Amino acid sequence: MRRVLILGGTAEARALAAELAADPDMRVVSSLAGRVTDPRLPAGRVRMGGFGGPDGLAAWLAAERIDAMVDATHPFAARMTASAAEAAARTGVPLLILRRPGWREGPGDVWQRVASLPEAAARLHGMARQHGPARVFLTTGRRSLPIFTGLAGVWLLARSVDPPEPPVPDNVHVLLDRGPYTVEGELALIREHRLDVLVTKDSGGRMTTAKLVAARELGLPVIMVDRPPLPTGVRTVETVGAAVTWVGG
Ligand code: NAP
Repeated sequence: MRRVLILGGTAEARALAAELAADPDMRVVSSLAGRVTDPRLPAGRVRMGGFGGPDGLAAWLAAERIDAMVDATHPFAARMTASAAEAAARTGVPLLILRRPGWREGPGDVWQRVASLPEAAARLHGMARQHGPARVFLTTGRRSLPIFTGLAGVWLLARSVDPPEPPVPDNVHVLLDRGPYTVEGELALIREHRLDVLVTKDSGGRMTTAKLVAARELGLPVIMVDRPPLPTGVRTVETVGAAVTWVGG
């Protein structure tokens, strides 16, 4: 019996859990942060909530006698990824990072890449100062909203899975949705709200690409926030199949 921990919260993590849970020789535990009110649950055992940093995770790995760990968290869950790398180094539990590829700019795209959310906010501030009030499609998650709300001349359509912490300022319209989205739907949304620019993290994957296709069709500029760097020295794969092979090996 091989005991595998999947650090989850993504579609890839659920797909991996489904594949591994179907194998009678695997005992799979998926871990979720517990942030989303009504998460999509993976197959197999599920545990919720933080471990208490690298120390807590290392202790949990030992107590549960985990043989292998796959970090299949979202590309922007940098703290969890760093914690997993540290706990793996300390305990000797093999770690694999499963990370979907980032998005690539193609013909017709008008993207500006920035290194961080505050840098994205600074770009918006600059745009509003230069060209007048900007109506922004913000898809960077509810917890990032405070970084953007104080910008003069900026109105935000903020789309998130769960509502942001109140109070929500007057210049913000919250749209609760979790996708997947269609190009038609995204085009309609951009037109209806007369949006001038899209701000997104480089999450990658297919679930949320419709907004990028819609932006391309309408010539809408995109501010693309780059991913945080991966920890060094940890094996990384891009597909669920490659992760299944690694776990089995
Ligand atoms: P984060 O900033 O890297 O993590 C903050 C803390 O939350 C971690 O230190 C850890 O607490 C706990 N945590 C995070 N992921 C966990 C997991 N899978 N299982 C148990 N504890 C976890 O992460 P985040 O950006 O808040 O993301 C939280 C979760 O949402 C992740 O699982 C991620 O896959 C998912 N998600 C994130 C995004 C995003 O844009 N960031 C988007 C979609 C889904 P301890 O230190 O106490 O262990």
